[in-house]
Amino acid sequence: MTDLPTDGQPIEAVPTEYSGTTFRSRLEADWARTLDTQRILWQYEPERIILPSGAHYLPDFWLPEIGTWLEVKGPATPRKEKAVELGKTRACRCDGPCACAWPGGEMVLLGWVAERTHGDINVARSRPGYANWAAAHGPSAYFVLCPWCGLRQWITLRRPWKCRACYRSLESEELFQPHDRVLPFGSSSIWSPADTAAIRREIAEQIAEAEAAD
Ligand SMILES: [Zn+2]
Ligand SMILES: [Zn+2]
Repeated sequence: MTDLPTDGQPIEAVPTEYSGTTFRSRLEADWARTLDTQRILWQYEPERIILPSGAHYLPDFWLPEIGTWLEVKGPATPRKEKAVELGKTRACRCDGPCACAWPGGEMVLLGWVAERTHGDINVARSRPGYANWAAAHGPSAYFVLCPWCGLRQWITLRRPWKCRACYRSLESEELFQPHDRVLPFGSSSIWSPADTAAIRREIAEQIAEAEAAD
């Protein structure tokens, strides 16, 4: 989206080439890289949507395997009204068990700039930060890996917790919040659940070392 702030001067987004696509901003390209790292299939600006309000909306990404829209929100594009309206429009309205193509309907995510986790200042300085997102509408979105079909995805805490691709249960899987340290942003190293304990241990050691050095 190319919305500009209504107040103040627009901050220029720099077109960025990645994987054969020219993105409107570095942040969008970083999100594409992050999706690739997590092996999530994406399409960039595949569809112009006319919202119930009559507004025309070109969401940044459609993630076809997991029925999710991703709208990247950086300093140049802070407005989120259209993403919120799309989220409301496409959310599940089933009476009784959900019969939508994706559990809970299509999801709309806002992808923010990467964030460092609190207390992380002294740790892993070279890292750009950790993936940061929010659901545009409805309950909070968490990142999860489906052990059945292997797809990484976002789900909300609305029950039942089901894989958006294969519909099998995710009730006993670990859910990751935005800017969890196992989810580096724009990185080329893929997280795997087997690594989680090791990563957490490493981070704890780094923090302990950094504190000891203070
Ligand atoms: Zn439904
Ligand atoms: Zn699955």
